[in-house]
Amino acid sequence: MKLYEKYPVHLSNSLSGEKEKFETITPGFVGMYVCGPTVYNYAHLGNARTFLTFDTISRYLRFIEYKVRYVRNITDVGHLESDADEGEDKIGKKARLEQLEPMEIVKRYTEDFHSMMRQFNILPPNIEPTATAHIIEQINIVKKLIDLGLAYEVNGSVYFDVKKYNQSHHYGILSGRNIEELMESGRELDSQDEKREKVDFALWKKASPQHIMRWPSPWGEGFPGWHIECTVMSTKYLGETFDIHGGGMDLKFPHHECEIAQATGANGRAPVKYWVHSNMLTVNGQKMSKSLGNSFLPAELFTGNHPLLQKGYSPMTVRFFMLQSHYSSTLDFSNEALNAAEKGFKKLSNALSLIKNLNQEKQEGINSELSKQLALLADECFKNMSDDFNTAKTLAVLFEMASRINDLKSGTLKINSIEKIIFTTFKSTYIGMMEEVLGLTEDASINNNLVDGTIQVLINLRKKVRADKNFALSDKIRDDLKAIGIQLKDGKDGEMSYEIEN
Ligand code: AMP
Ligand code: ZN
Repeated sequence: MKLYEKYPVHLSNSLSGEKEKFETITPGFVGMYVCGPTVYNYAHLGNARTFLTFDTISRYLRFIEYKVRYVRNITDVGHLESDADEGEDKIGKKARLEQLEPMEIVKRYTEDFHSMMRQFNILPPNIEPTATAHIIEQINIVKKLIDLGLAYEVNGSVYFDVKKYNQSHHYGILSGRNIEELMESGRELDSQDEKREKVDFALWKKASPQHIMRWPSPWGEGFPGWHIECTVMSTKYLGETFDIHGGGMDLKFPHHECEIAQATGANGRAPVKYWVHSNMLTVNGQKMSKSLGNSFLPAELFTGNHPLLQKGYSPMTVRFFMLQSHYSSTLDFSNEALNAAEKGFKKLSNALSLIKNLNQEKQEGINSELSKQLALLADECFKNMSDDFNTAKTLAVLFEMASRINDLKSGTLKINSIEKIIFTTFKSTYIGMMEEVLGLTEDASINNNLVDGTIQVLINLRKKVRADKNFALSDKIRDDLKAIGIQLKDGKDGEMSYEIEN
């Protein structure tokens, strides 16, 4: 029996608004697509929250023995300033301002994004496609939508005909928006005169003479709309219908609503079984965003070098802080919450080091009450994670487990009195939930401090040994450290420093 059968997942589907049993299209396999970043600027902590949510979801699904194909794209063309059909391309604009090639902008911010993902221990997806590498596929689907009568060309641009689509489908199915209201209330926009209805959206846009990123198409030189890239890349790698589509809550409308309309229109069936939306990171109740000036970058967070921060916090503290709330709730940033998270994470991290070195030698005098308690705790972790990936509740159970680990270490609870199989499961669940599912590895900064402290102890010992004229031992300390890549350097006035060789 696979773990996903023992602990069946239930997840909140934004499409139905209900928590549903997770039944994959192909038993044992999960296809998941998540809208990735638009790489025109440095990624901030708010962006990190969304990608952390889906990292945790994919980690847990793998942990319970699903085979997961996780696709997360990079948007490197077509995302306009208005998040709709108006304004400059975000990447094109940055390229113009910085007098660089758009692809130089894309490379710089893709690398920055990847580095942020690594810092927060967010694992790479299995496939990370870019929009510019899928122009042909995008043109093909636009042609198909025109052939099906669901899109029309005007003056070199192509728009999706929402009213036509709505005759046989339901535009608004995800966001609950009402099409009549949308047709009335749409903003008056530049390309309004080209669109049949305000609610129509661009699939392909004609490039103005100054527009940098452009490709030839049956409708002249232009570039794809933002929504079509995700339809193309998700269905290309996961099939016409796949299991999970994720993204930030702010993408539900219009981006995801348009994705549904495009794919359903082109393929005759809904593209996604479960839509999952991760909620926003806020500061004093306001969405963290670049434009509001309330966002911070990883480096600012780690050093504390930002007006909103009292001090710096380690990446694992921040990861822990985010996992303390359920992904579907907003999470408000505050120094108080991060200070508390720092303490909380330290407790769990200490217990992690302890349990790695805790082993049962022999079994004697089984304490069935204790065994039962520990078995229940391990079980609860899975149940909480399978219940809509509730990391908040799982962390609460891990705290309980950490207390037991401390008791086992101190001897208040007798390790040998636990049933062997239960101890093994308890240990592997704690380590697995911490490291593999929640991605909370022991903090590198804690380890660095430990290494540094230990070397200082050896340096002081060596000084003492030398003062006692025991040069043989002093040399031995130096040589043994050198053998493991730590080079001691004798400075002036008997001072010593060290260097770790790479
Ligand atoms: P963007 O690069 O602006 O397209 O955003 C990349 C991802 O970050 C999207 O899925 C957004 O929903 C998400 N995002 C942006 N701001 C926040 C925030 N304050 N909290 C959580 N997610 C966010
Ligand atoms: Zn998308």
